[in-house]
Amino acid sequence: MGEVEITVERAIAPGYYLERELEARAMTQKELALRTSISQGHISKFESGQLQVPDEQLEKIGLALDYPTQFFFQPDRLYGLGISSVYFRKRKTLPVFEQKRIQAQINILTLQLAHLLRGVDVKSDNEFFPLDIADFNDDAVAIAQLVRAKWNLPLGPVKDLIGVIESAGGVIVRRDFLSRKFDAQSRWLNGLPPMFFVNHDVPMDRLRFTLAHEIGHIVMHRVPTENLESEADSFASEFLMPRDEILPDLSPFSLQRAAMLKPKWRVSIAALIVRAHDLGVITHSQYRRCFTQLSAAGHRTCEPVTISDERPSLIDQLLGVYQRDHGYSLAEMCQMLSISEQEFQTQYLSMPPLRLRS
Ligand SMILES: [Zn+2]
Repeated sequence: MGEVEITVERAIAPGYYLERELEARAMTQKELALRTSISQGHISKFESGQLQVPDEQLEKIGLALDYPTQFFFQPDRLYGLGISSVYFRKRKTLPVFEQKRIQAQINILTLQLAHLLRGVDVKSDNEFFPLDIADFNDDAVAIAQLVRAKWNLPLGPVKDLIGVIESAGGVIVRRDFLSRKFDAQSRWLNGLPPMFFVNHDVPMDRLRFTLAHEIGHIVMHRVPTENLESEADSFASEFLMPRDEILPDLSPFSLQRAAMLKPKWRVSIAALIVRAHDLGVITHSQYRRCFTQLSAAGHRTCEPVTISDERPSLIDQLLGVYQRDHGYSLAEMCQMLSISEQEFQTQYLSMPPLRLRS
């Protein structure tokens, strides 16, 4: 399914996880050496698997990184980056070290989700299905229309995109990925539902377009194509702003009109300008003028008119099943996910009202 599975023997697992974990925590070997009083040379050999990590030192490392030692021995399959790294490389503004850190965070979250999903039967109204764009004459618009139809979306704006993704079985994970340049990334691995990793502070209008773009990748790009980014953009535009339904709204076009349309269509003013241009409502010079005006008003980075938040709820529901139906305690949840209680609190319970008993 486009992803490379790597099976790691238990014996070398600590090193593999140590490398991921250092990346995810943005910690260098040197910093870890200082915190644990273990020599950097040893840490390097642990990481490369040349040296086995003695139990006592593994415990020190776990403490320094805030991970229980069992984290380093997860007998699970690990996943290579596969096709999602191709999307990543296309996003050239993100420095390589940040890409590595975010990928490491996503890999760890993927393992946690795999654990969470294993014990629960998730039933959804709709489902994700692959539609290879090569079978559709590279027509991303036609695929967006098909997905909307299959998911029974009403005509017009998509009011709750996050709800739509979750009702098709997709999992949305909103976290602080410690980078302003990162919006979201998706992956669809064997045996798991499509997963969307979303940075916590992306404005809702931009996030919705990014998520629609990622749905496009998930559905159309099991194999990377030459124009995968522009295809995903075309998919997102038609998915959120179907041509036939938005055209009457767009003309006559002006910035004021775009600002009025923003809460209805729940997309950015910038996205509306691009759509108006792509659909031939405005000329290229009008399009450029709109963006010049938007920039001059300081609205290019921070748009006026905010739209209401959409919140993912599937993970909270999953936690609820473990808590209520399966009687898991806080300690048992943390053990299942191989994370410390503190990390579980901040990563999973920071959004009220869910509370797990201790
Ligand atoms: Zn993309």
